[in-house]
Amino acid sequence: MIIHKSTNPRISSFDPENFSFGNTFIDHMIICEFEDGKWGDVQLVPYGQLPFSPAMMGVNYGQACFEGMKAYKDKDGKVFLFRPEKNFARINKSASRLAMPEVTEEMFLEGLKALVDIDRNWIPQGEGMSLYIRPLIFATEEALKARIANKYMFAIVATPAKSYYTEPVSVKISDFYSRAANGGVGSAKAAGNYAASFYPTKLAMEEGYDQIIWTDDSTHEFFEESGTMNVFVRINDKIYTPPTSEKILDGITRDSFIALANKRGIEMKIEPISVKAVVEAQKNGTLKEVWGVGTAVVTSVFQALGYKGEKLMLPILTLEDSFALTLQKDLVDIQTNNAEDPFGWRVLVEKNILETV
Ligand SMILES: *Cc1c(COP(=O)(O)O)cnc(C)c1O
Repeated sequence: MIIHKSTNPRISSFDPENFSFGNTFIDHMIICEFEDGKWGDVQLVPYGQLPFSPAMMGVNYGQACFEGMKAYKDKDGKVFLFRPEKNFARINKSASRLAMPEVTEEMFLEGLKALVDIDRNWIPQGEGMSLYIRPLIFATEEALKARIANKYMFAIVATPAKSYYTEPVSVKISDFYSRAANGGVGSAKAAGNYAASFYPTKLAMEEGYDQIIWTDDSTHEFFEESGTMNVFVRINDKIYTPPTSEKILDGITRDSFIALANKRGIEMKIEPISVKAVVEAQKNGTLKEVWGVGTAVVTSVFQALGYKGEKLMLPILTLEDSFALTLQKDLVDIQTNNAEDPFGWRVLVEKNILETV
């Protein structure tokens, strides 16, 4: 690893009580360039701008994918990653689907740990606080040719994140637009998947909803995901989530919720969820909870489902009665070292990694 420490760190002016998520970047970043069929040296450098051409293939043809993950600081100041090997495996799955080169463990996991370690003072401490980390791969070759690019960049940037608490939201069950299709790129964290979702989401917002529940592209009769999160439905005391597929992204939060539900003995069914069954359950009062899960906010609880012009209301449950909030707490307690970690999910970020490199 090549290391250029910042000579002008901004950390002393960082106020963990008052910062803007997504716009505040830690002092360093990881970059690594792919050329002539191989990755070059992993570089830890000061965060900053990079020079690219408008003719770069990543922006013209969308060869770009990313990950989203977090580092957490416990009450003693120890820093942990959560299941980072899952993000490593997934970025390579996304890269393969987009015909991009896979990254190595040294670039991803060691780069990640070195970056989080050197900028550990940027990780805000306290309930719900974390460092949001964004590894990404994109085509940098300057060429207006619609083919697989020959040059890429792998980068890791990070921004401090605040409390995950969010108000319950209203979501529209899509009866026209879709996020993914059979044979498509729905299971890859492709940048373009997000671009394609913004317009339908904007339309839903104009109708008074906060998000969309994506349904299958051919019939719109089955739930797939909600916004950029995986979706769970509770009918009576049973939880349902659809199986992952090439249309449903294999979320790490989803996988963790399933394991935690099993551990608690909550009945968990991994099977397709039909819109009809959810609407019926709402009408007969057995629909207890619907929520989305993902790294960014952990859980987004839904208070209403919009379907064909009707607004179906959901009860708002307290932590005691809510499976969503109970499982969220179980997960966050493990992530932040407030509970035992029976699954071995936490990964400690050792101090002064770079001095031993
Ligand atoms: C990232 C993402 C998720 C959530 O995955 P996590 O690993 O839980 O953060 C779900 N759906 C889509 C479409 C995503 O891009």
